[in-house]
Amino acid sequence: MKSFGYAAQSKTSPLAPFHFDRREPNPDDVVIAIDYCGICHSDIHQARAEWGRGLFPMVPGHEIIGHVTAVGSAVTRFKVGDPAAVGVIVESCMHCDNCKAGLEVYCSDGGAVDTYNAILRDGERTYGGYSNNIVTPEHFVHTLSPKLDPAGAAPLLCAGITTYSPLRHWGVGPGKKVGIIGLGGLGHMALKFAHSFGAHVVQFTTSESKVEDAKKLGADEVVISKDATAMAKHAGSFDFILDCVSAPHDMNAYLNLIRLDGTLCLVGLPDQPLSVAPFSLLANRRSLAGSAIGGMKETQEMLDYCAEKGIVSDIELVSVDKVNEAFERVLKADVKYRFVLDMKTLQA
Ligand code: NAP
Ligand code: ZN
Repeated sequence: MKSFGYAAQSKTSPLAPFHFDRREPNPDDVVIAIDYCGICHSDIHQARAEWGRGLFPMVPGHEIIGHVTAVGSAVTRFKVGDPAAVGVIVESCMHCDNCKAGLEVYCSDGGAVDTYNAILRDGERTYGGYSNNIVTPEHFVHTLSPKLDPAGAAPLLCAGITTYSPLRHWGVGPGKKVGIIGLGGLGHMALKFAHSFGAHVVQFTTSESKVEDAKKLGADEVVISKDATAMAKHAGSFDFILDCVSAPHDMNAYLNLIRLDGTLCLVGLPDQPLSVAPFSLLANRRSLAGSAIGGMKETQEMLDYCAEKGIVSDIELVSVDKVNEAFERVLKADVKYRFVLDMKTLQA
């Protein structure tokens, strides 16, 4: 199938129009015409090969919303015209214990394959959602309620599930004091979910300009993380803190805020190792954890929860030719709070 989109030709080149081929659909494939694609900070890390592997030309994008244009003969959950959504992974082994438990992202037999910048088990390269279409096995495609605004729903496919999953796993809810670090794409979804689950939520930010927004998004308290006195007031008091920061930062300052048996969970993926002072962990028997997106079952559960509660991302919708400007603004933490590409503006 002829496809086109925006690609980085190397780790130093800006994104530019790019024509490429996708496979003809297999019996279990869904073909989706892409309407919207969110810009995740991971797209920037990967397009600049900050995590190591960069397969170029690279078409980023893993927050994909569109509508079905064709289905393979074995597809049962979708028909032509249905809304459909694809997130961060498009393949896993489907038979290991983790896959069988609906935790495909933790596939232990060959691993999950990313929506872009990756190679499928049969050797085919994956290309992401900054493009006109995508071909994906039905198992990795989600249904979308008509109650959800499709542009605002796009970031749910990564920023949404990546924050929903750990907040659920660590039992965030009424009676729990929860911190969210960084008010960006992931952070603002984490804030909405933690508030919606009934926790007492404290937003940490380096940006004074975001304080009022944080309160509107559901924060009970907002702390400017550079203010040591304000930080000290929360020492040893949090049940759970979710770290959504994309750049190197001092984790110990946050570990010290965790109460007995509490957890600091990383979802942010800076390209440099973060250092941990052992005493920050020993005190209060603290745990340091990590979490990767979420499984297919939980992603569908999250989408359905959002439809029921009226939760979408706060977005700036931009035309595809503005993608390089959007990258620069994300790097300056200057986005409220997720860019979404309007793929209808893509010119062949
Ligand atoms: P984003 O929109 O750029 O948000 C990151 C936020 O971190 C910024 O808005 C800023 O918030 C804060 N920040 C940025 N630089 C900082 C610095 N030097 N020191 C302290 N705070 C800083 O990024 P995102 O799309 O939410 O992604 C966040 C991270 O999660 C990225 O590393 C991404 O690759 C990763 N990620 C992980 C998964 C996973 O499965 N675990 C999935 C998706 C993304 P304030 O202005 O409020 O300080
Ligand atoms: Zn992402």
